[in-house]
Amino acid sequence: MLIDNMMVIDPHIHMTSRTTYDYLVMKEYGVVAIIEPSFWLGQPRTHVGTFQDYFNSLIGWERFRAEQFGIRHYCTISINPKEANNEPLAEQVMELLPLYACKEGVVALGEVGFDDMTEAEEKYFRLQLKLAKELDKLVLVHTPHRNKKEGTSRSMDICLDEGLDPLQVIIDHANEETVDEVLDRGFWCAFSIYPNTKMGNERMVELVKKYGSDRIIIDSAADWGMSDPLAVPKTAQLMLESNIPETQVKAVCYGNALKAYGQSGEMKEEHWLEPTAIDQRQLYEGNSVLRGQTPMVEKPFQESIIIR
Ligand SMILES: [Zn+2]
Repeated sequence: MLIDNMMVIDPHIHMTSRTTYDYLVMKEYGVVAIIEPSFWLGQPRTHVGTFQDYFNSLIGWERFRAEQFGIRHYCTISINPKEANNEPLAEQVMELLPLYACKEGVVALGEVGFDDMTEAEEKYFRLQLKLAKELDKLVLVHTPHRNKKEGTSRSMDICLDEGLDPLQVIIDHANEETVDEVLDRGFWCAFSIYPNTKMGNERMVELVKKYGSDRIIIDSAADWGMSDPLAVPKTAQLMLESNIPETQVKAVCYGNALKAYGQSGEMKEEHWLEPTAIDQRQLYEGNSVLRGQTPMVEKPFQESIIIR
């Protein structure tokens, strides 16, 4: 364990690309809950059925797999910006979204927003914002890696134009260039600690020193790329070592994510404060997380984990 008994939440991590071993280590490092946003998988999908299976895995197998390690799993549902450029497919995915957006454990619509800032991206961004309004859902906005500043401004303009309340929108992948505007306009401002590209944790320490902890959220955005599923607990540790007050560290690595996504009514602290006991003998549709290993079985209401 990195930090004494500090609970952290990683509100943006693509566990479908990660191994079960990551769950084991994340739990060790104090991760109690995660949010897995719908995104693209590295290769464009060509059939709506693959989206449907993906959404089913986010609310099914992935949730089960996390719970087998004592981590609470939530997700967000969307057609992502990149794949919105395949309009015939995006049209079909749009029809699926209302069916999944209201399922248990779905905390927002997302990731939505811009990749290349094309017309098709804006069209499906707006359509999904309208759907969020209609269903009274939160929104997770992915801001583009190219033209970050312009893309972030434009994303917020569009959210306001579609009548969303800034406090119902989490603007993600922020950086030093965009943080002022995101906070000034009243949105939640999330930073992805992603090695070499989005945000480093030393830079994050400086940002919290400068801006404090109000409406600031830290996540890993870990996926199939060169990323770190322990980015949130490691950044929490670095912040504590850098003399950032513990209350601020807890806010940006735990409390703010809970406050933001808790508005959905789907994410509650009691889910991990009063967990069900881990029993890896359980199956999901006939399958277990084990590959021949001895199952971990926790006795209810007991702290220690017994390996049988
Ligand atoms: Zn992502």
